[in-house]
Amino acid sequence: MPYRAPVTDYEFLFRHVIGFDQVAGTERFAEASEDMVAAILTEAGKMSEEVMSPLQRPGDLEPARLENGIVRTSPGFADGWNAIAEGGWIGMSGNPEYGGMGLPMTVATSVNEMMSAACLSLQLAPLMSQGQIEAMEHHASDAIKDLYLPKLMSGEWSGTMNLTEPQAGSDVGALSSKAVPNGDGTFSVTGQKIYISWGDNDFAKNICHLVLARLPDGVPGTKGISLFVVPRNLPDDRGDAGVANSLKVVSLEHKMGLHGSPTCVMQFDGATGWLVGKEHGGMAAMFTMMNNARLGVGGQGVGVAEGAYQQALTYALERKQGKSAGGSIADHADVRRMLLSMKADVFAARAILLSCAVAIDMQTATADADWAARAAFLTPIAKAFGTDTGIAVADTGVQVHGGMGFIEETGAAQYYRDVRVTAIYEGTNGIQAMDLVARKMMDGGDAAARLLDEIEDHAEHARATLPELAESVWEATETLREATEWLVDQKDMNARFAGAVPYLRAFARVLGGHYHLVAALADPDGPREKLARFYINALLPEHAGLLAQSQNGAGDLYALNLEELAE
Ligand SMILES: Cc1cc2nc3c(=O)[nH]c(=O)nc-3n(C[C@H](O)[C@H](O)[C@H](O)COP(=O)(O)OP(=O)(O)OC[C@H]3O[C@@H](n4cnc5c(N)ncnc54)[C@H](O)[C@@H]3O)c2cc1C
Repeated sequence: MPYRAPVTDYEFLFRHVIGFDQVAGTERFAEASEDMVAAILTEAGKMSEEVMSPLQRPGDLEPARLENGIVRTSPGFADGWNAIAEGGWIGMSGNPEYGGMGLPMTVATSVNEMMSAACLSLQLAPLMSQGQIEAMEHHASDAIKDLYLPKLMSGEWSGTMNLTEPQAGSDVGALSSKAVPNGDGTFSVTGQKIYISWGDNDFAKNICHLVLARLPDGVPGTKGISLFVVPRNLPDDRGDAGVANSLKVVSLEHKMGLHGSPTCVMQFDGATGWLVGKEHGGMAAMFTMMNNARLGVGGQGVGVAEGAYQQALTYALERKQGKSAGGSIADHADVRRMLLSMKADVFAARAILLSCAVAIDMQTATADADWAARAAFLTPIAKAFGTDTGIAVADTGVQVHGGMGFIEETGAAQYYRDVRVTAIYEGTNGIQAMDLVARKMMDGGDAAARLLDEIEDHAEHARATLPELAESVWEATETLREATEWLVDQKDMNARFAGAVPYLRAFARVLGGHYHLVAALADPDGPREKLARFYINALLPEHAGLLAQSQNGAGDLYALNLEELAE
């Protein structure tokens, strides 16, 4: 089914829900007027619909393959990459000095979401470059920036991110790749990296790998890690891709989905690299890239959810079974429940995602510590809830199709297979939740409390117009506040970690209730209010069970020992 870019939904969110006027009101992003944003979203939507969406099935049916050490990409992907590059979508939030568009992250995130909905496996390629661009903008030397950034932003070269090793997955600090100084300012990088997305392709003239490795004097753990840019081809005197570097793609993974994206095992054998950031400061530099990518991956989840919802709705409107008022399965109560849940959760996840992007933009524009704390707090929620929603909505999409959902031709199953990994890469959703209840609460819960205060203030304001909905959101926020205080009081971190995942989901549920309420106020008696009513009455109550679970502590989890677990 052809994908239809939800540009009017973004416009509604920008105008009424996420407070984008604050971003447009800053000097930094003063050019991001409503008209300008609408024009950009329309153009990106058109490219997603017309160029990327037709590549979704070919990417699945004819996966990328390795031929004599070179990755051959799926049919049409090279043209797709060129269209993304020519539209300026790779460097859209990059510094204009190097050829970027300098757009707010809120706009870039919306564009990324549309591209993900249209063809997730191809969209992962520009997403990798974008993360690399941001890491270099913040941490690289001027010489590296001058050479790499214009080429990465124009799409002439592409970027990757090399963290994972067989023994170092979530535990990045366990990595064993080494970097040895060559004495001329360059380094010799050696090691094996696994699961490297877009580790090679046949459309960019050079592939720039950002690689985490340890210098000879690097201490064990994350504190001893440094970051290097290691290009597939060494830049020649003119800065063009020159002779081959000492690295290769060993093999491609056979995956459950995302077949169009080559996931590579990379071998670096004394490859020449250049330091990005400070020696042993690799994790700080990589975090810039990872935070960007976490938001991007959250957007992947939301995008796939949108695509899966559109496909399920179209099918439900055409499929006739049993006696229903309108003649199609869409009129059966249970199918309505599925469709409404999908639509309401797409809205909630998108509002959370874009609110996180607004906080990042405000942090960039104002350097205000509260905005920085807000951005940091919302990032794990946007990543985990966005991707969990992608998986849940794609799963429900299969169910709406009945047997046809299990048959590959409809494409419903592909959404599910493709999006499943988004809860795993860029830090599993379990790791995101632990980040939320540990690092993001090192302030004693201040960032959380400020957010909850705002939600309650808004609910108070909404009482006059929508008393029942406002009361439900207010009460849910109070329950969440109590659970947050309980978590902050736990000195045993394992007690927090045991409830981290349900807590993160409950936080997202309450945030979703808030954004639906804001939308309802902007559309009295209209479809937004009706959707908000469904979300707040039917989905928001989930928070209570989740919060009870989040305060159960770790005792019960360890009461059964490992032998008993295996019995
Ligand atoms: C298709 C694909 C593309 C990828 N692309 C890239 C890429 O481009 N670059 C790159 O560097 N990596 C990439 N990855 C790797 C990905 O980021 C890792 O798979 C992920 O970080 C998890 O690491 P792991 O697979 O080793 O799982 P593990 O770390 O072994 O985790 C297994 C389980 O244990 C849990 N767990 C682990 N540690 C803890 C802990 N301390 N506390 C609680 N629970 C814990 C996890 O949440 C998970 O549920 C990709 C992976 C895939 C599948």
